[in-house]
Amino acid sequence: MSAKPSFFDLHLHTEFSPDSTISLEAYAQLAEKLEIHVGFLDHFELAFVNRPHHLNYETLPRLLDAFDRTKATYPNVSLGLEVDYYSNNASGVAEFCDDIRTDFNYLIGTVHVIDGLAVTTLEELNVLVSRIGLPPIIERYFDEVEGAIQSKLFDGIAHIDGVMRFIPLFPANPTVNEIWQRRTLELGKLSQRTGILIEVNLRGLNHPWGKMHPSQSLIKELVQAGAHFYVGSDSHSLSDFEEAAPKLRQVHQFLREWGGFGLPGSLRELLEG
Ligand SMILES: [Zn+2]
Ligand SMILES: [Zn+2]
Repeated sequence: MSAKPSFFDLHLHTEFSPDSTISLEAYAQLAEKLEIHVGFLDHFELAFVNRPHHLNYETLPRLLDAFDRTKATYPNVSLGLEVDYYSNNASGVAEFCDDIRTDFNYLIGTVHVIDGLAVTTLEELNVLVSRIGLPPIIERYFDEVEGAIQSKLFDGIAHIDGVMRFIPLFPANPTVNEIWQRRTLELGKLSQRTGILIEVNLRGLNHPWGKMHPSQSLIKELVQAGAHFYVGSDSHSLSDFEEAAPKLRQVHQFLREWGGFGLPGSLRELLEG
């Protein structure tokens, strides 16, 4: 019988995401060695269900089967889904979440795209910057994240300031930093009021941003404001996951120390004995 881990990584991308090739079993095996409870969190993008390698209604049952098989051997695993939120199709997203909610242990809302372009990939961000400029992109990104929290469709929100990943590659802009800090803190208050968890996402550490989403100093302010956090490495490979493990443990330690650690409702029983 395996011991119950006290560390959780609730954001792993598997071969069911277009940008990963790792099986659920491979992560689960490594997680057992690292003594981490893992949550698989593949992308579901309603706007892109027709693109190759993207999850859609037809392929979702395969993910559920793969999870059941994995869980039979490795008990310390959970199944989540990273669902893109679009304010211009909020009812479509709500309908999808209602359809699939009971198949998953938790649902995480996320924002990647503005005007159909992903702000989390440099090529598409560059196109967007040339069209509308950086400050409006940052404002609109946070508007969308705010909408995702207010929708109350989700247990948590992924990488709340993920739009900042490539910002250091652009000329320094104090307005951008001001928007980032102000709007991140506003999201903390919103999450405190709605009870929706914020993710401490470690992926910014491997990007030009070089910080967690949100940064450690902002996390501290948000915890003081009453927000609660779960932790996600946002790994796309086994080496991402393994390399993030020491940081993941460290983040758990300070969140627990500051009273800001949380888990989605369906996983909370894992914290007891
Ligand atoms: Zn994401
Ligand atoms: Zn992700």
